[in-house]
Amino acid sequence: MSDEAADVRAIRALTAAYNRTFDTGDTVGWLATFFPDGELVVEGHAVYTGRDALAEFAADRVGRYHHLSADPEIEIAGDTAVQQCSLILYNTEKEGVSLVGTGRYVDELVRTSEGWRFLRRTVRMRRVASATAEHRSVVAAGGAAAVRQSPALSADVVVVGSGAGGLAAAIGAASMGSSVILLEKASKFGGTTAKSGGVFWIPGNKHQAAHGLSDDLPLALRYMARVSAPDRYDEHDIYLALSVWEYQLLSAYVDQAAEVLDRLEELGALTVNAEVGWDFPDYHCELPEQGGIRGRALAPAAPDGGVGTGTDLVDQLLVTSEKLGVQLMNDVAFTDLAVDGNRVVGVLARSPRRELFVEARGGVVLASGGFTHDPARAAAHLPGRLWGGCAVRENTGDILPALEALDVPLSNMECAWWDQVAIEHTLAATTETRAGVWVAPGDSSVIVDLSGARVVNEKAVYNTRAKIHHGEDAPQVLLLLMDQRCRELFCTEQFAYPITAADLEHGDGLISASTWDELAESIDQRLADLGEHLDGARLRPGFREELARTISRYNQAAREGVDHDFARGEQPIEHFFSGAPRPGSGPNATMAPFSDTGPYHAVLIGLGTLDTKGGPQTDIQGRVLDRFGDPTPGLYAVGNAAASPSGQGYWAAGATIGPALVFGYAAGQHAAARSNRSRHLH
Ligand SMILES: Cc1cc2nc3c(=O)[nH]c(=O)nc-3n(C[C@H](O)[C@H](O)[C@H](O)COP(=O)(O)OP(=O)(O)OC[C@H]3O[C@@H](n4cnc5c(N)ncnc54)[C@H](O)[C@@H]3O)c2cc1C
Repeated sequence: MSDEAADVRAIRALTAAYNRTFDTGDTVGWLATFFPDGELVVEGHAVYTGRDALAEFAADRVGRYHHLSADPEIEIAGDTAVQQCSLILYNTEKEGVSLVGTGRYVDELVRTSEGWRFLRRTVRMRRVASATAEHRSVVAAGGAAAVRQSPALSADVVVVGSGAGGLAAAIGAASMGSSVILLEKASKFGGTTAKSGGVFWIPGNKHQAAHGLSDDLPLALRYMARVSAPDRYDEHDIYLALSVWEYQLLSAYVDQAAEVLDRLEELGALTVNAEVGWDFPDYHCELPEQGGIRGRALAPAAPDGGVGTGTDLVDQLLVTSEKLGVQLMNDVAFTDLAVDGNRVVGVLARSPRRELFVEARGGVVLASGGFTHDPARAAAHLPGRLWGGCAVRENTGDILPALEALDVPLSNMECAWWDQVAIEHTLAATTETRAGVWVAPGDSSVIVDLSGARVVNEKAVYNTRAKIHHGEDAPQVLLLLMDQRCRELFCTEQFAYPITAADLEHGDGLISASTWDELAESIDQRLADLGEHLDGARLRPGFREELARTISRYNQAAREGVDHDFARGEQPIEHFFSGAPRPGSGPNATMAPFSDTGPYHAVLIGLGTLDTKGGPQTDIQGRVLDRFGDPTPGLYAVGNAAASPSGQGYWAAGATIGPALVFGYAAGQHAAARSNRSRHLH
């Protein structure tokens, strides 16, 4: 029989140890206060289960706070116990000590051979309200410069970035009667969206119904969950084994996407050409959750009514933004957030002539894309050597320092919409490429490593295929090989990057020779010439012999129509991207034997992105969440500027622009409603 008073003392000591270890940066000691499978629930925000997740939670938080817990109420029941206590949390890291908020812990404990441990700690926090009026002063979050009290420009809603996310936010806000200023760093509006195919993926859209197709939204949610978190997905779990945040965002998307599309169409902001949807398969038709459903991937209409592209999408959104009175400013770059107490009240920006403080009475919507073109952040966060990507060169993660200065946690920073790029196209003044290697173009084409062996299904969806470059020992340089027939028959097409005439003109990067042996020699010479850029990568000894075996085995598989090594051509999306069969294709139209005679061609390829997808977590209104899962007043993030709940997954064509439009529109509406409320209060 245990002594209850001793148990109560031990639990108090454990609680004190929890505070002390966390506050002094002793992660190991802090983890030891939990049972091995212990859980920390930050209510309304996230659940951290087990040592690894807890360590991840602690990683960038320990040593930065002072916890004060008091008034414990403890009940012991044999080898388990419950405790409730109050909490006051201070931030000790910034200049001076500041109060973060107050709250309560609700604890479940278990007795182990080493003493009491937390089985589950649930923390409920309320952050401190904004500073009192006398103490209010507008400052730059980064602390770089004090903000002049009188803003140069002022609007209800300020949007940063003019891609799908930013333009949808501007339209969402302006359609509610709010004044909107949109700042764009580039000279041209439209961002990566304008370069894109412009496809948006909207489950349950009315165009499906109009064409007699039905969707299944609960199944769509399960499909998205499985693709987004393949290692965790559990169809029997109430949240499908996603985090609360992931589940909320994915289910909000399924619920709202079609409605937002309807609204954009009613506003005349978007004209849809639904023809793309019928033959564009989702990217993971092999999963039962995909359910054989078609018609979710829609495209904007071109001016002649045909299938449009990202340029048409941007043009349509721009016209409506202007009609609704949005003030569009190009060549103006966001540099920092302006804050008043805990509220975001505007942005600091740089135009070619001056620095500006742009006031936002209702909210600031960050829609400035990802950080593909910031090599330092890419190296720090991404799981492989990133050579570049097709996001516009302005996407350098400019918002991230301001968010860090505000102590906003950044999530999914290791995630991106992956593809491969021609390495030589990234070695010029910018790491921006025109497009990405959506597939190895054509049929008689393969991807091999520097020893001459095939390493991947060349027709696998770009996001999946590019993961071959992830990890410390992964190959960072691969070779895309094709013959002259393939080049002539296929390299005029949309999915032929990096071999189309336009690409070669801009970036060259093609290595050609009349025999395989000569090609090997030329490739090795090119590697030697690029030595410093490629960390000295060269062809491995025995490359020619291995390549000869690879080509012979591949040719045999192409004649048979079955790729026994990498299952090439087994998924509908592979045929869609590969294009129609041409004379000489085998029974599997994604494969044809290589010609016996040259010329043959090679391109050096490596890891690229369409853009990254890490950033602040947001709620379903696009509000940026702070460390405790509470919305940061006045701050929103959408599109690739925000953390995507899709993780490392890619549901289908349109999976990036769809959420940018839907959550962008929602964020604009919410910020507008906020500014309307504050207008009425005043
Ligand atoms: C060739 C290609 C084809 C693609 N096809 C598709 C497709 O069909 N469907 C799909 O879903 N996705 C596609 N993608 C991906 C898609 O284009 C992007 O993921 C999506 O457009 C991102 O939208 P966004 O609004 O988040 O960002 P962006 O469109 O990148 O817009 C961000 C904007 O912010 C601006 N900006 C950056 N920093 C600042 C700053 N400091 N101040 C002010 N402005 C700033 C940038 O200049 C840019 O204009 C494709 C991409 C490429 C390159």
